[in-house]
Amino acid sequence: MKIAMLPGHARKKEGATVCAGYYEGFGEHALASHYLPGLCVALEARGYDVVQTEREAAGGTTPSYSAKAANATGADLALEFHFNSCEGAEGCEVLYYAEVENPLGREFAQVLSNRLALLLGVRDRGAKPIRSEADRGWNAFKKSDMRFFMVEPCFAGSNPGEARAFGTLIKTGEWQRRVARIVAETIEEVFGKE
Ligand SMILES: [Zn+2]
Repeated sequence: MKIAMLPGHARKKEGATVCAGYYEGFGEHALASHYLPGLCVALEARGYDVVQTEREAAGGTTPSYSAKAANATGADLALEFHFNSCEGAEGCEVLYYAEVENPLGREFAQVLSNRLALLLGVRDRGAKPIRSEADRGWNAFKKSDMRFFMVEPCFAGSNPGEARAFGTLIKTGEWQRRVARIVAETIEEVFGKE
């Protein structure tokens, strides 16, 4: 199986900013770009064909370019890594495409969110369905050829406790190793049924 790994957003348009901890001041794109190479290597070590790409590789900064960049890799599955920002909010969630019935996509998002929440020690907000143009990142889900997910591990943009926990895991390399294991196990358990 081939997996495309993308940092959310773009160098020219970073998204939210880490509010505390080791990576305070890093944007969403910069932070994911920092930890993705380690995560990709760890996932490759588990036997997957992994390719890192991003919106600007396809020439733009919007979610349509996530789909374009992921499609160019010929991957079977794509994961784009973000973090959330919203005053007073907490927890981990994973977004999946739900315009059409997608029970395995929903299950993958649910299990992945649950395991990442446990790893970070944050609330599990679960699988978030993306159903229409009004939903976050719609074009990435709509225009991609493969199963596409957006990972929002925590509210590092607005919750200092979550930002610190996230930053510490990344700094020690634990995030990269453990998430590779979680992604591999979740793929096997959920899509192994296909
Ligand atoms: Zn984002």
